[in-house]
Amino acid sequence: MTNSAQTPLSDRLRSLVDTVQHNERTLRRFQNVELRLIGAQDFASFLDTLFSHLPREFSLASVTLWLDDRAPMLLELLEPGAMRALGLPGLKTSREGGLAAQGLCDEGRPWLGRPAQRDDAVCRAFFGEVRTHDSHTHDSTIPASAILLPLAAGDTVSGYLCLGSDDPERFGEGMATDILERFASIVTASLDNVAHRERLKQLGMTDSLTGLANRRYFDERLREEIMRAARYSVPVACLFIDIDSFKRINDTYGHQTGDRALAAVAACVRQQVRLGDTVARYGGEEFAALLQGDRADALTVAERVRLAVERLALQDDRGDRIALTVSIGVAARTISGAPAEAITYGRAMLEEADRAMYQAKRNGRNRIEALAKAGD
Ligand code: GH3
Ligand code: MG
Ligand code: MG
Repeated sequence: MTNSAQTPLSDRLRSLVDTVQHNERTLRRFQNVELRLIGAQDFASFLDTLFSHLPREFSLASVTLWLDDRAPMLLELLEPGAMRALGLPGLKTSREGGLAAQGLCDEGRPWLGRPAQRDDAVCRAFFGEVRTHDSHTHDSTIPASAILLPLAAGDTVSGYLCLGSDDPERFGEGMATDILERFASIVTASLDNVAHRERLKQLGMTDSLTGLANRRYFDERLREEIMRAARYSVPVACLFIDIDSFKRINDTYGHQTGDRALAAVAACVRQQVRLGDTVARYGGEEFAALLQGDRADALTVAERVRLAVERLALQDDRGDRIALTVSIGVAARTISGAPAEAITYGRAMLEEADRAMYQAKRNGRNRIEALAKAGD
């Protein structure tokens, strides 16, 4: 009796705790999927995460991705031949599908609800055929409830992601959509990233062993970045990174392990710079990085790279640790005016970083140098 007033409260507390725990589990599962998306090296693994990993992780009946094949980055990615080769029924590009999705997502907000309750034309355009005359036999492509999320960065919508469920109650009005909207923004950024990567591959601007940009791409970006830096009077910097005594790695462990070491160092360097910075394999065991920032910023990044490589836990075939280190040369510039001379300025900066790198070799390796009479 005395407990009767408390029971509902403890029940409510219990259910609150359940909800919190449930949300936490959901968030963690989202994070797993998000990490896979962010790490996707190509379009195929990006799609695989969305179409097989995501529905499994969240017990979804369907995942549909509509992409705008007129978006410049997606143009070649989605050309009909490539689409057929992928053979994914959930991947769509039809014009009317996009318009329907746009119509559903009012002012770029997600739409959620039961597709079968919607106006027939809009539903058919996005979800496929709905057989309204026979409510018992739903077409298998029509989820009982669904959420449609715009994939937008700024004003540009590159596509729509639709998650469908067999449960008519799963996605409905009044449901909190913040986690899913955050997820959509990560899908958008990852899509942009893979599209960019695929584009570089198509243009022959990536190095296949490391997945980094190649020298040709780097030289082009260098010119662009110097022009940008001149136009906005912002500093620009570069690192020239050379693996120490790499010949010995090859001689000791074999060329194959050498290749593995190269890929590991490449990934390590990539991790230490910002997403917008350019890292390229400039030569055999040499990398170049183009950074936004001044000399002090670049020295900080260089030290981070040096430490990260030193701590790499690469193993040989027997499981023994392979010690790897790099020598890094740093150069930076603040250029005012005359963007026309961008190419000259860029080359001079890179050459200076290269010379500084050789100085680091002479001074004992596994270290960073910047020339004393640097331009900045
Ligand atoms: P230092 O510390 O002075 O830079 O010594 P190092 O041995 O790293 O420099 P060196 O220029 O003498 O040798 C570079 C080596 O890198 C030789 C070459 O076989 C190796 N190398 C270059 N490209 C590749 C590659 O794609 N795979 C492998 N496994 N080795 C490579
Ligand atoms: Mg070298
Ligand atoms: Mg070397």
